[in-house]
Amino acid sequence: MRHLSTKVRNLEESQTLLLTQRARLLQDAGVDVVSLTAGEPDFPTPAHIKEAALRAIEADFTHYTANQGTAELIEAVIDKFSSDNDLHFSPDQVLVSSGAKHSIFNALCAILNPGDEVIIPAPYWVSYPAIVRLADGVPVILPFEAATGFRPDVRRLRRAIGPKTRVLILNTPCNPTGIVFTRSEVEEIAAMVKETNLTVISDEIYEKMVFDGRKHVSIGSLKGIRDQVVTVNGVSKAYAMTGWRIGYMGGPEEIIRAAGKVQGQVTNNANSIAQKATVAALRGPQGPIDAMRTQFQLRRDYVARRLSAREGGEVRSPEGAMFFFPGVERCFGMRARGNLIRNASDLAEHLLEHHHVALVPGEAFGAPGHIRLSFAASMGDLEKGMDRLLRGLQEIQ
Ligand code: GLU
Repeated sequence: MRHLSTKVRNLEESQTLLLTQRARLLQDAGVDVVSLTAGEPDFPTPAHIKEAALRAIEADFTHYTANQGTAELIEAVIDKFSSDNDLHFSPDQVLVSSGAKHSIFNALCAILNPGDEVIIPAPYWVSYPAIVRLADGVPVILPFEAATGFRPDVRRLRRAIGPKTRVLILNTPCNPTGIVFTRSEVEEIAAMVKETNLTVISDEIYEKMVFDGRKHVSIGSLKGIRDQVVTVNGVSKAYAMTGWRIGYMGGPEEIIRAAGKVQGQVTNNANSIAQKATVAALRGPQGPIDAMRTQFQLRRDYVARRLSAREGGEVRSPEGAMFFFPGVERCFGMRARGNLIRNASDLAEHLLEHHHVALVPGEAFGAPGHIRLSFAASMGDLEKGMDRLLRGLQEIQ
């Protein structure tokens, strides 16, 4: 067998990407699959952003930029953090990278020594543990209670901190649970973090997708904690720019400089054209975000109605992000079309194979009794997808 690193041999593939790709391949082969897998807005990138990119190409803005990002983009990010999040950075506290995932990777590489521990509340976004391992850290998974809808539990967090803990990863609005931390929850966590020397990596990529008038609170904006927080964001979700691959982060200068060193050796700057487009996104009209949020809320409500009708009672509606994360344990041990459904992976497989609807099993998110359904799909797809899902679930007995 070819020699490969043990680290990479043990690395699991991203289930969100794998299942999205599987659904895509089936569609390409002519199978009518409804994909409710990825947290990816189905809207086109707004026209003024695309025009900025076209102008960049025409002006030959097609070469390397500064590793950390262009000066105009860094300024735009600083202004965004300041006006949206009450976070105040100087230019050497900001790094632009090739997607928020890349930002998190750079930050963890900058902070961790081999064996350092990173607390990851579960359910978690699929890639956190893998990125921690790639950065030579040790993920410490801390499950929150399903009964509370996976709301943060500060007492548990405090108990999980040990002598080797260096980082706590927070994610609000949360992928996959859809919860949005309240101000008092954020304050409680901040008060706990202040008593430690932990660094918080706060992944706020779904910031703009909050529903029912909720307000996103950035933990880094709370008094006395700024030096302990790296805030990660990007344009993928807010501006329907997933393919452009632009993420950014703001945080303590030493961490950002170290993360920039990692980036400088591995990729150099993020795509120059996408950086121009990102300036247009951050500086331009913000109306498209509101329009998308309104649509997402309608879709969320539609899925909630369909799921509630099945459950014979209200299902918990996501407060933010783009996902439902219902419990499916009652299907385990049952049979459908002769197959035993042992776990959420079997269930997802059954739904894909026999009902042509793709979802991501909860194992990928550290919550094996659940399944993730993305409502970032057109209303037509959601209607079809929900018909199939409910039919598929009904068949299991
Ligand atoms: N973050 C999105 C998701 O969870 C996109 C895919 C990925 O990078 O995981 O679906």
